Amino acid sequence: MSNKILVTRSSMPTYEEYCAEIKELWDSRWLTNMGVKHKAFQAALEEKLGVPYVSLFTNGHLALENVIAAMQFPDGGEVITTPFTFTSTTNAIVRNRLTPVFCDIHATDFTIDVTKIESLITEKTCAIVPVHVYGNMCDVEAIQKIADRYHLKVIYDAAHAFGVTYKGKSSASFGDASIFSFHATKVFHSVEGGAVCFHDESLVEVLKDIKNFGIRGPEEVQYIGGNAKMNEFQAAMGICNLRHLDGEIEKRKAVVDRYWMHLDQVDGISLNPIQKDVTSNYAYFPVVFWEDIFGATRDEVQMALANEEIGARKYFYPLTNTFGCFHGRFDVNLTPTALDISKRVLTLPLYADLSFEDVDRICEVVLKCKK
Ligand SMILES: *Cc1c(COP(=O)(O)O)cnc(C)c1O
Repeated sequence: MSNKILVTRSSMPTYEEYCAEIKELWDSRWLTNMGVKHKAFQAALEEKLGVPYVSLFTNGHLALENVIAAMQFPDGGEVITTPFTFTSTTNAIVRNRLTPVFCDIHATDFTIDVTKIESLITEKTCAIVPVHVYGNMCDVEAIQKIADRYHLKVIYDAAHAFGVTYKGKSSASFGDASIFSFHATKVFHSVEGGAVCFHDESLVEVLKDIKNFGIRGPEEVQYIGGNAKMNEFQAAMGICNLRHLDGEIEKRKAVVDRYWMHLDQVDGISLNPIQKDVTSNYAYFPVVFWEDIFGATRDEVQMALANEEIGARKYFYPLTNTFGCFHGRFDVNLTPTALDISKRVLTLPLYADLSFEDVDRICEVVLKCKK
């Protein structure tokens, strides 16, 4: 048997549980277009997340791209966001003909630095798109105050934050909307999938139309929509996985505690903080290496792990504002903290079934790099 350890591994219901869930799809032959599983999954999420409205999408990216579109900002409007994220966040803004304005991040929890938002606001600013990085919550209260003062919409990229709560409220409760990704690699998944969570009733119809070609009625197209519907098999997987979410998060916590046991208090290493009033979903295990003290760079640690067939990911590196598709439009030096962290951070393997023995072995390799 190989000793290979991947950086992540999808959680699964049992084969029997999934088969039982999809049985009626064989009988009804209703495979997509908002059938029974879609309805049941949506209702289960509204209940679990404590939000009035959930709109399901084929993936997290299209949830984000379409909720931005649904808000109908003027072309060329500016959206304040961060470059320390998956490329999806930035792409969703640019694909809507909006201009991302990059704000730096906090070095402690990697979320948007709320002290730097106001200086980036101009007459063209229409929204803030902050990211709950690694499941760490942004400073939602400070962000809302700024948004209220300047009449800006807030759309959270909560792709990492499913199952996270702040002061007892789910991560889906904040801002004008939050999007989740239910991609196979996320804490909770529906193979591929995504959702927009929101409070404003007027968005219900728009989001329904936008993901289904803009079709309002049998002979009426109201809106130039695309196709971003979640199908019944995705919804069925979501329904199954939702039953096991709390247990999965508990197992992840145990893995993270094991990592802390080995890596806490090691000079030259910073671990992801435990945030006040937040219950985490333990989505990722990022480690920041300060090579002056630790004696090895992030890349050297990644290489040492790769030599032992242990996958670790430079997540997020490079910053999204450096990507070639943007042709040098953005100045990375305007977000120096994000730039610095992106060069130091490594996410170590983390999934519910990762064994303590494997965690011990991973930490041994990491600590051997220390000089
Ligand atoms: C995964 C992810 C997305 C995109 O979600 P998909 O379901 O893969 O389309 C967007 N933003 C962030 C931060 C993500 O991690």
